[in-house]
Amino acid sequence: MKKLFLAASITSLMLTACGTYDETVEQNNQQVAEKKDQHKVTRKDGVTYVDGHLFVNKKVGLPSEYAPGENVKARMQLDRMIQESRQDDVNLVFRSGFRSYETQQQLYSSYVAKDGQAAADKYSAKPGHSEHQSGLAFDVGSANASDDFKTSFVKTPEGQWVKDHAHTYGFIIRYPEGKEAITGYQYEPWHLRYVGKDLAQTIHNEETTLEEYFEFGQ
Ligand SMILES: [Zn+2]
Repeated sequence: MKKLFLAASITSLMLTACGTYDETVEQNNQQVAEKKDQHKVTRKDGVTYVDGHLFVNKKVGLPSEYAPGENVKARMQLDRMIQESRQDDVNLVFRSGFRSYETQQQLYSSYVAKDGQAAADKYSAKPGHSEHQSGLAFDVGSANASDDFKTSFVKTPEGQWVKDHAHTYGFIIRYPEGKEAITGYQYEPWHLRYVGKDLAQTIHNEETTLEEYFEFGQ
């Protein structure tokens, strides 16, 4: 810490001597300001994007007719991830991917009928609000399936592997532990959202969510 401070002071002195210190500070401040304002929200055909990333949650929905199918690039990365997990003796499996508005409607209705709406809302999305409708979300599980779609999935070798490696394939754990109040969902260690490697790495490092990172949709 002390060393860092010293290095910074020397740099400042050098910059001051060159008469560019103030300019540099100003530039840095500007960069920070730009970075903060950088998150750009756009809408196209009723679909919301932040910095070009499709955004859907409980508050921001997708049009009922939006049915892109499985995103090819995301699925390729998922398949690669599953394949490479075998090298670590992990039996990761694909459980579900793209889901249409209509399918989500049927699912949600069945959950509400079974558990009531309040309970269903904690684990299921209303039609038009499922990330699976984007074609960018996947549920994974273990070959033996005993902990699939349960919080305990994270304790399986497959769940641990996903937690440690998914970001290197461009996926984030979309509904992390302790972020229930922000995402609106209980912890889902099996639900992966493709965002590309750069953003996935950032979200992983900062242990954050799309809502927090984009400062949007809460
Ligand atoms: Zn899911």
